[in-house]
Amino acid sequence: MIILKLGGSIITEKGAESPVVNHENMNRIANEIKEAHVKDLIIVHGAGSFGHPFASQYQIGKPLKGELDIHEKKIGFSLIQSWVKKLNGIVCDSLREHGIPAVSIQPSSFIVTRNKRIETANLDLIKDYLDNGFVPVIYGDVVLDRDESIKMAVLSGDQIINYLSKHLIPKRVVLGTDVDGVYTKNPKKHSDARLIEKVTSLSELESLDSTTNIDVTGGMIGKLQELLELASLGIESEIINAGKNNLIENSLKGNKVLGTLITMKESS
Ligand code: ADP
Repeated sequence: MIILKLGGSIITEKGAESPVVNHENMNRIANEIKEAHVKDLIIVHGAGSFGHPFASQYQIGKPLKGELDIHEKKIGFSLIQSWVKKLNGIVCDSLREHGIPAVSIQPSSFIVTRNKRIETANLDLIKDYLDNGFVPVIYGDVVLDRDESIKMAVLSGDQIINYLSKHLIPKRVVLGTDVDGVYTKNPKKHSDARLIEKVTSLSELESLDSTTNIDVTGGMIGKLQELLELASLGIESEIINAGKNNLIENSLKGNKVLGTLITMKESS
């Protein structure tokens, strides 16, 4: 089984202030996924401009400040849930139009966090869909949080990758984003940033600053924290550029492509 992440930076215009889909990328990637003919595949996608601007506006996951604030945040929660569901519909439609039997899995309908980490999530249905030859498509969403001081949280696609991988032990975990992999520092900010072929620890980065990123869930650093935890359990992952033609397809086919391997093994 392969777990594939499509970053919000790839399927949406992530910097946009309102939700905008990148249809060109989405269609191309859906075609590449079809061409790769993976037998067991789970797709996780990010929220990009369908989630982050609202999550930041409504301060979801920040401490609650009384009844009015709780009400306001619930409205924000409802709005974000609606927008990310729309994006998921667009992703599933595009996959289906390319002959992939995508099924939508809505995190806010079965996942609960405590202090922003997944506490409850029954994966049986996802396994059943896989066993029946479907491609489950799950995504970054808002969820209920059992910590009374926040009650609601933003659940990133990257944390979902972490949770699914720990529990389903896929053969490969591939994350498609809008840069070639992990660099010594943010390549969009520093022209001298160098691509790192293999990351075994956050200390290999010269700078952990990802402030140009609108991502409320931590951008590349948040992603790496999730993936390094997986690596410590022996589950390797790869970050590749889904913005470049054929990299997703080649990677899914098992071919070596440009990117970064997140691992604990010094020699692999
Ligand atoms: P996605 O939405 O695809 O999951 P993110 O926006 O969370 O991706 O993370 C990718 C972004 O992280 C890149 O566009 C880049 O600007 C930023 N970034 C920050 N630091 C780094 C780094 N050291 N290496 C690579 N990308 C980085």
